[in-house]
Amino acid sequence: MHGTKILEEADRLMTVCNSCRYCEGLCAVFPAMEMRRSFSDGDLNYLANLCHACGACYTDCQFSPPHEYNVNVPKTLAVARADSWAAYAWPRAFSSVFARNGLAISIIAALSVAAFIFGFAAFVDPQVLFGIHTGPGAFYKLMPHNAMAALFGAALLYAIVALVMGVRAFWRDIGEPVGLLAEPGSLWQAMKDAGQLRYLDGGGVGCVNEDERPNDRRKLFHHLTFYGFLLCFAATSVATLYHYLIAREAPYPWWDLPVVLGTLGGIGLLIGPAGLLMEKSRRDPVLVDQPRSGMDVAFIAMLFLTGATGIALLLWRDSAAMGLLLALHLGVVFSLFITMPYGKFVHGIYRYVALVRYAKERRQMGHT
Ligand code: SF4
Ligand code: SF4
Repeated sequence: MHGTKILEEADRLMTVCNSCRYCEGLCAVFPAMEMRRSFSDGDLNYLANLCHACGACYTDCQFSPPHEYNVNVPKTLAVARADSWAAYAWPRAFSSVFARNGLAISIIAALSVAAFIFGFAAFVDPQVLFGIHTGPGAFYKLMPHNAMAALFGAALLYAIVALVMGVRAFWRDIGEPVGLLAEPGSLWQAMKDAGQLRYLDGGGVGCVNEDERPNDRRKLFHHLTFYGFLLCFAATSVATLYHYLIAREAPYPWWDLPVVLGTLGGIGLLIGPAGLLMEKSRRDPVLVDQPRSGMDVAFIAMLFLTGATGIALLLWRDSAAMGLLLALHLGVVFSLFITMPYGKFVHGIYRYVALVRYAKERRQMGHT
């Protein structure tokens, strides 16, 4: 007996697949499944988070609908995966945010942007909000640097604590001792697998779309999004070091490291999420957890808006629009930070942890 109906269904499918084993070369899910004869709730949540949703095992399956076995591994694991994220959420009271995620993220983003605009106008002279400010320290005429660093530092710290607590719950659920999460060989292998999206290639042919012609576009757009996000994070980190270590204040000239990193990252966050949305619209609905599509769209939209508002701020930072653009950018980034533990962002964290366990299991079995 399992905790939910979807886990019952996942158990049924994994039992069928374990007898068939036709898909064992497609990804990490099937080899991990073959290491087991029965499946606990934790095992199924582990397999669900190991799945990269490429769709290949549905297209290749001789038992997919209309066959009476009704085997649909991608969709079943997608539903189980999203359920697991809600179950691991910390604090538990916020797990309901996963249910109506698109609406929740939209409201939080709109309130954050409004709060920054109102805050700038209320606490600073509204003339300053619409004035032209240039040179080092221009942004801090609207909000002191220390206040900005404290607010965003607190939001990021909260997100990190909530994510760590979620990972702890996941690691316990799959039955692993906490100490093993720090095994360097498995951490490194998982980092390589995640960094290359090794298992998002449908066994080498790519992701499957509505027309059943596999391609690598989803992987490409995901790479642009992921590395764009990392570059933007690096840009902010370098700017913070500039501020506190060598007393250089933003905004910086276009050739300076924080601007170069931020521009490249911002371009990645424009092209990557736009491409992911396009690919999403082309996916065969039978493969996806449709009721929770809003969660995917909200997260992709937030990443796109982060890139778009950042680039807009760079382009018009010397104009009278700078105050509003800064409020928009800060509002979007703030809402992205505080909603990270309660939306699609967590897929990267749990998938990485599942890959760590997979690397560990393979090493124990004598594979590299
Ligand atoms: S998805 Fe279908 S073809 Fe693939 S292992 Fe399972 S039952 Fe076999
Ligand atoms: S959808 Fe792709 S990643 Fe997921 S189980 Fe099937 S083949 Fe593996």
